[in-house]
Amino acid sequence: PSITRGVTVEIPKVSWADIGGLKDLKDLRGGTVFSLLTEKLQQAVEWPIKHSAAFARMGISPIRGVLLHGPPGCSKTTLAKAAANAAQASFFSLSGAELYSMYVGEGEALLRNTFQRARLAAPSIIFFDEADVVAAKRGGSSSDSITVGERLLSTLLTEMDGLEQAKGILVLAATNRPYAIDAALLRPGRFDLVLYVPPPDLEARYEILCVHTRNMKVAEDVDLRRIAEDTELFTGAELEGLCREAGIVALRENISATVVCNQHFQTVKESLKPALTPADIE
Ligand code: ATP
Repeated sequence: PSITRGVTVEIPKVSWADIGGLKDLKDLRGGTVFSLLTEKLQQAVEWPIKHSAAFARMGISPIRGVLLHGPPGCSKTTLAKAAANAAQASFFSLSGAELYSMYVGEGEALLRNTFQRARLAAPSIIFFDEADVVAAKRGGSSSDSITVGERLLSTLLTEMDGLEQAKGILVLAATNRPYAIDAALLRPGRFDLVLYVPPPDLEARYEILCVHTRNMKVAEDVDLRRIAEDTELFTGAELEGLCREAGIVALRENISATVVCNQHFQTVKESLKPALTPADIE
């Protein structure tokens, strides 16, 4: 039964509309700024799945992998889910850290099994969180023994190379440490696209606040633009937390409250300290 431990399958409900900001993502290698991150991801994910016949007709093989990198809490997972939702693809989620912590052989078996299941359930997206744990640069260890990470990496490479004939399977990997990723994974035919997912800027913070107050009644004195200005260095996850906590503060004050006021947002904001530092903003 442990074979399915650590992997979850679903077609996610999150959509592009649930993501604030991220209007321009950069391709790490080309340094190109795309007008729309989501547009780029959409092309990489939705097109090959929805128009596989057209790809075959044109003799182009679709992208097999996209690497998303950027600080924690800035929507890499959410983007992957939105991509799967848009393509109506089954979403298989794996955690590098979890694979790494498994017994000898178990992690590789789970990896192979997940690719197998993804093939059966295609179109599929395999999301690989904390990819650097598994895909860390090889070498460096002085002993002759092959490390857990190396074995996992080589399994991953084999599986990704095997995707050639497979239709409609895309691997999306996320990491906070792109420089730790083994170069073999960045070769053409593997992670062909490397996208930087930045922390939210002012406009993005405003949009994220809008997303997470969508189902909330906010009082007239709440100025989300102002809050966005006052929350520099906050990640998407922290902004989501801010909205939720503000609602809780309002309820704590009065359990029959129906609206959240500015003062509730301010109380929470003052108690929060963002985890990012100016050095995290590229
Ligand atoms: P980690 O590296 O820690 O896995 P991550 O980059 O994958 O983090 P997510 O898990 O996607 O981040 O984001 C965490 C939470 O923050 C999500 O539940 C999401 O709702 C919220 N969030 C983050 N960024 C955004 C955004 N741009 N718009 C809306 N919500 C966001």
